[in-house]
Parts: sequence; structure tokens; C-alpha cells
Amino acid sequence: MTNKILAIGECMVEMAPQAQGGYAMGFAGDTFNTAWYLRKNLPADWEVAYLTGVGTDAMSEQMTNFISGAGITPELLTVPDRTVGLYMISLKDGERSFSYWRSVAAARKLAQHPAPIDALEKGDVAYFSGITVAIVEPEDRQALLDTLSAARARGVTVAFDPNLRPRLWAGTDEMRDWIMKAAAVSDIALPSFEDEATVFGDADKAATLARYQNVGVTCVVVKDGPDDVLAQNGSAAPVTVSPVLNPAPVDTTAAGDSFNAAFLAGHLRGEYLSLAIAAGCALSHKVVSHKGALVDVT
Ligand code: ADP
Repeated sequence: MTNKILAIGECMVEMAPQAQGGYAMGFAGDTFNTAWYLRKNLPADWEVAYLTGVGTDAMSEQMTNFISGAGITPELLTVPDRTVGLYMISLKDGERSFSYWRSVAAARKLAQHPAPIDALEKGDVAYFSGITVAIVEPEDRQALLDTLSAARARGVTVAFDPNLRPRLWAGTDEMRDWIMKAAAVSDIALPSFEDEATVFGDADKAATLARYQNVGVTCVVVKDGPDDVLAQNGSAAPVTVSPVLNPAPVDTTAAGDSFNAAFLAGHLRGEYLSLAIAAGCALSHKVVSHKGALVDVT
């Protein structure tokens, strides 16, 4: 039987500066990056699909072709008067900074296309992030969570990376409130400790873990950059896994996104929690050793 994992969020046009001058165009975005790595890490009997919004212009068509060219099923809402979002990377003294054009992106309407989530069946997986919840139109947020909650009640596994981005929210209280509402409809949460400590004031990783367990998340995996990952699944004992340190990462873009993909691929195959986490660490270790979000490490 084929199972399906549907990632939900925003894929953007990426303009990355090149050493010889000019920019290289690509496509990336947190949930899309995870879908891209999932396709490379899951066996062929898993379908990987991506739900986002596009326009009817040439750039939207190129993005759609890129998604399907990566072996991912595009599940698209087409918004005729909108297009896809864009970001440009700037390099100054080796430091990267990002400029975004995403306020009218078609992806902001994606919650108005619940059909791909409604079609998920028991055994399938829905994957979304705090960025997904942040970018959808505020009046659509609750509907998105209700759709995910209904899927979960049917036996769909819901996985969530809080991916805290204060700049995408009107204020900290709003962000905290929606992130915990999103966690409350999820079976799996994949937070990163540094961001969580900043936004929620968690004293340690155990506090982050407990906060997500307290809203009903069964499996919580707390990442912490190069430091230990702390995780617990249900009532089993918590586990700690130490990533192999990369002392001089080249580019940490998509470290968490790639971790999530390799972790989920292992976890969904029924691997021991510590082995699935080790697979996440191994993939993200390779990804931080290369430039760019999408690194072909296979
Ligand atoms: P995010 O991109 O969400 O901020 P983290 O910084 O928490 O993610 O990192 C995710 C994973 O990437 C970590 O759990 C770890 O496995 C890996 N990682 C990140 N930085 C390093 C590093 N310097 N050396 C080895 N692994 C790393």
C-alpha cells in the first residue's frame, strides 16, 4: 500500500549571489526543503506531495515544474491575480542576510484549498510549520488547524516544526498563542531549542519538551544546533543523541529542515527513536557542510 506525506507551506524563488557576480535562481522554503529531502529519504512506496499556492504566470509554472521534477506531487491552489514569493540573499563580509518579497504571495491563500488535506487517509502524514501558520491569511489560520485536527482524528499523523520567525508575526503573544494551538493538533513536534528559549523563555530542553507534551504532542524532538538532541515518544524513556560536531559549518540553511526529513523517514519506517534522530543528525551534518538549502548528498 502506498502512503502519502503531504507537506504544507510556502515555496519561494531564491536569488543567491554567485562568486563571479550576478545571481543564481532556485526554489526553496522550509516545508518545501523538508519535502525535497523526504523524497530522497523515503522509499518509492511513499508518495511525497506539496501543498502551496501559485499564480498563473511563467515563474509560477517554473516552480510547479521544479516541484514535480523533484518527484514531488504538486497540490496547488492557483490564485490568478497573485504570484509566488521571492527572497534574495546578500553577502557582506561572509555574513548572509535575506530580503523578502512575500506579503502578497499566492501561498498566503493555501488554507482556502483544504482538499489535499481532506483526502489524506489513516496512515498518511501531514507536515507543516510555524512559518506555514504565520504566512496564511490570519482569518484562515483556525480553518487550517481545524482541517489538520480532523485529519488527525481520521488517523493521519500530523508533524509540526514550530520554526519560530518573530518577523512574520504581528507580536510575540500572537506568535506564542498560534504556535501552541498548532502544536495542539500535532502528534509530532520538532522544535529548535535556541529559538524556543528566546520566545518562550524555556530554561532547558526538558522544559521545551514538557511544554509540547502538555498540549498533547506524543513525540517531541528538541534540536539544538550542534548540541545534544533531546526527545521523548509517548511514555517511553527520554533519549539524548549527540550530533557529530561540524566545527566549521559552511551554511546552516535548512539544517533543521533536512534533519526533520531524515528523522521522519526513519520514524515512519518504525525505527527506534534514537536511530531516527541519528539519521536526522547525519543528513543535516552533510547539509551544513555545503552551500544552499537543497544539497544533493545521496
Ligand atoms: P534549525 O535550522 O531549525 O535552527 P538547528 O540549528 O537546531 O536547526 O539544527 C538542526 C540539526 O542540524 C541539529 O540537530 C544537528 O543535528 C544539525 N547541526 C546544526 N549545526 C550543526 C553543526 N555545527 N555540526 C553538526 N550538526 C549540526
